[in-house]
Amino acid sequence: MTAMASATLSAELITAYIGIGANLGDASAQVQRAILQLGKLPDTSLDTQSSLFCTAPLDAGGDDYINAVARVKTRLSAHALLQGLQQIEQDFGRQRPYPNAPRTLDLDLLLYGQSIIADEVLTVPHPRMTQRAFVLIPLLQIDPFIVIPKHGPAHQFAPLVADQAIRKV
Ligand code: ADP
Ligand code: MG
Repeated sequence: MTAMASATLSAELITAYIGIGANLGDASAQVQRAILQLGKLPDTSLDTQSSLFCTAPLDAGGDDYINAVARVKTRLSAHALLQGLQQIEQDFGRQRPYPNAPRTLDLDLLLYGQSIIADEVLTVPHPRMTQRAFVLIPLLQIDPFIVIPKHGPAHQFAPLVADQAIRKV
């Protein structure tokens, strides 16, 4: 029990970035409520959030998405944080009928401090974050000079996603 509890907590306070998306139901309200839920995870506080952005679906059909990025400070391990994100997705009624299906709520762990993680359940930095305007633009809004481990300054990827339609809500 003690070992379990200590395994889910990190010794230091980690700055993590969460990508939020929704395109079913009242997507704006869900994204905004989900951001507030992030700050209620154990050992976690909400630092700041981007504006809400409206984007066209990539690799998928369905309605436009509402997206945002939030920055949190947490003592949860990366895996415990992922579990917390998945619990919030469940609370919002997330179902996964097929890959890239429309979703009431998607929470992706984009960055966890400077960590590089690649195992069966978790890849950090999020593998597609440099290719997606709906991640990069909100991320750069809150941290224009952020550096993505393995990739470098995030702003250098912005021109590469300039063809993806995105607008502030
Ligand atoms: P996607 O967000 O890619 O459309 P899902 O939200 O259904 O798909 O996530 C599928 C799986 O991706 C999850 O079960 C989770 O274990 C895995 N995964 C790997 N890395 C991450 C990450 N950085 N953030 C969120 N999920 C991740
Ligand atoms: Mg996801």
